[in-house]
Amino acid sequence: MNLSKIKPKLKGESDKYSWNLYRFLNKIAKDKYINNQLRIYWNHHSRWDGEHLPFTKDVSNLMQLIISPYGDKFTGYFMNTVLQKGNCEFISLCPWKEEDLLDVTDWFFDTYEKIGRCIFDPEHNGWMLGTDSRYTYVNNTRKCNWCGQWHQKQIVKKTRIERKVEWV
Ligand SMILES: [Zn+2]
Repeated sequence: MNLSKIKPKLKGESDKYSWNLYRFLNKIAKDKYINNQLRIYWNHHSRWDGEHLPFTKDVSNLMQLIISPYGDKFTGYFMNTVLQKGNCEFISLCPWKEEDLLDVTDWFFDTYEKIGRCIFDPEHNGWMLGTDSRYTYVNNTRKCNWCGQWHQKQIVKKTRIERKVEWV
């Protein structure tokens, strides 16, 4: 894990990379031990309804991503609260079975380094802070400057059905 590669350009401001995530990892990984041990887990057990959630590389469901500083499956931090607040409560992972936690560390850091916060918003529909420089617009297309995807603008027709009462 090389944190200099996921550091936002301006202090305190997210761009392609999240400032909160950078600051958080920087804080906990100062300890060499943590730097080597830190793992990212995908939790197969839905925190919403307990359903089994397969890992599909769509990690927009941030409640299912866990940062485990010591690499164990007993304690960790939820990715959603780290991204929102920059620090959060150390939580117990005991409610979940060990086999529910899938190690996605290498995939996560490789992908995050490449495409930044698009990892959390693969559909490009999400709402995030610090997205001013995310897109370059060219006519009816836009390019995502973080992951390189091109999107075409589509005008979608919306029809409203009005109802009125008539006596016949
Ligand atoms: Zn993107």
